[in-house]
Amino acid sequence: MEGFNAMSQVIGKVLYSAEEIARRVKELGATISQDYRAGAGRDPHRRPLLVVGLLKGALPFMADLIRAIDIPMEYDFMAVSSYRGRTSPGEVRILKDLDSPVGSRDLLIVEDIVDTGHTLDHILRRLKAREPASLRVCTLLDKPARRQLDVPVDYVGFTLKENLFVVGYGLDYAELYRNLPYIGVLKPEYVRR
Ligand code: 5GP
Repeated sequence: MEGFNAMSQVIGKVLYSAEEIARRVKELGATISQDYRAGAGRDPHRRPLLVVGLLKGALPFMADLIRAIDIPMEYDFMAVSSYRGRTSPGEVRILKDLDSPVGSRDLLIVEDIVDTGHTLDHILRRLKAREPASLRVCTLLDKPARRQLDVPVDYVGFTLKENLFVVGYGLDYAELYRNLPYIGVLKPEYVRR
């Protein structure tokens, strides 16, 4: 336990506890199931929903969300890297693409957080070009105040009103803290300037 306690000590404030996240993820899963169940009636031969998780950040959220979805579905992952504040802002690289074609399928993108919107905009353009039957987005966190590109977001777990850099439940700072079961803000002394 010592390691985990030591890790928790870097957190200045918990914004969303593990219990709050679990509750909200269950609600999102129920809403998504209901929405796609309603749509599925249109065509019985339509292939099941394909849920696309964006690595690495969406992994814990995705793992919980898919178990709260109770309609037939498949899942796949894309891995992207954005060069935040390094080379040109908003430059997005695809490190891993989907394994199978998505033409005529219902796609649900699962993202950890939408900030400026550059990552999502890039992914949406790329996937739209493959002509899916539908394309929706579910993000655990949304920071609308920081948006630079107008990206459509269909399902939002929590909206961050303040401009905070958050960690935990998949979200990292220099690759650390993704395994915290809650979402919080680092103490200032643990953030390199
Ligand atoms: P965007 O392209 O919308 O600016 O940024 C999306 C990506 O930036 C997210 O997938 C996430 O990896 C990272 N990001 C944005 N805001 C935060 C934050 O508050 N905390 C962490 N850990 N990552 C963030």
